[in-house]
Amino acid sequence: DRLKESKVYMRALFDYIPLEDKATPCQEAGLPFKRGDILQVVTQDDPTWWQAKRVGDSNLRAGLVPSKQFQERSFRLSRKDRQGSSGEGSDPGDPDFLTYEEVTRYQQRPNERPRLVVLIGSLGARINELKQRVIAENPHRYAVAVPHTTRPKKPHEKDGVEYHFVTKQQFDTDALNNKFIEHGEYKENQYGTSIEAIRSVQAKNKMCIVDVQPEALKRLRTAEFKPYVIFVKPRVPESRRRRSAATSPGGGEHGRITDEDLQEMRQSAIQIDQQYGHLVDRVLIKEDSASACAELRGILERLERESFWVPLCWVR
Ligand code: 5GP
Repeated sequence: DRLKESKVYMRALFDYIPLEDKATPCQEAGLPFKRGDILQVVTQDDPTWWQAKRVGDSNLRAGLVPSKQFQERSFRLSRKDRQGSSGEGSDPGDPDFLTYEEVTRYQQRPNERPRLVVLIGSLGARINELKQRVIAENPHRYAVAVPHTTRPKKPHEKDGVEYHFVTKQQFDTDALNNKFIEHGEYKENQYGTSIEAIRSVQAKNKMCIVDVQPEALKRLRTAEFKPYVIFVKPRVPESRRRRSAATSPGGGEHGRITDEDLQEMRQSAIQIDQQYGHLVDRVLIKEDSASACAELRGILERLERESFWVPLCWVR
């Protein structure tokens, strides 16, 4: 039994540094890892310490990592220390309590519906523009989910092409019935993207690309959509004095960018990473629009050809 390769793989959802771990029976035997690493769990015989290898490591020896149960307990205890509260009744989705997620390799088969591609972006990433650009290059392969809106149709627009034009009443009913993955108001009109709009793109065997606020990830992370999540961050220069405002992210149209703007952009990226980083499959650092678009195109092409780690529950 021991000779068989373990088929248990976990995506680490936290960073682990054995040398800083007071609980480990042996710091030297510990396996350090970072959030996002894939671990092959060799044995789960011990309820507190698993033996695991890091996928992609040339090091063949397994090391000790805390078991899921043990790590959850450690997180609870350290929160209790910090807050002096019981730590009970905490939200299991709380980023402070994330340990491991069991994963498996998954490759989309040609007869299967294409995976959903979800772009999230921090301040200044302009993910909508990126999405539009990559789709315009390959409209027979990629498409947007057509949004709903309550604003009046313009003469050149066609219902179901630019938007699904609906009444306020219809929109509110749909929103109440949870038909939208996200919706918002702009100039007193409602806009939103429905689950059905994504399905109808996939029914045409096209890859649907959506750009959403990261809060929408919870709704989209299902076996049906198998979303591949790309987090787009603009490269933020150290200081505006080192580069001219015209070449810095978001420059040009928005005029001068101040150091405060740059600080806000950095802060926005840090915040999204902290809160949603564990749901991200790929980080794309956006240098400029053209190179980001080329990189995104490359990612989308690989997505159709190669296998990727997905939660085990998506394929079972
Ligand atoms: P327009 O009415 O000019 O077509 O779009 C105006 C604005 O509506 C867009 O710039 C965008 O901010 C917003 N919008 C368009 N589609 C959506 C959508 O699906 N969801 C949300 N929240 N806003 C949208």
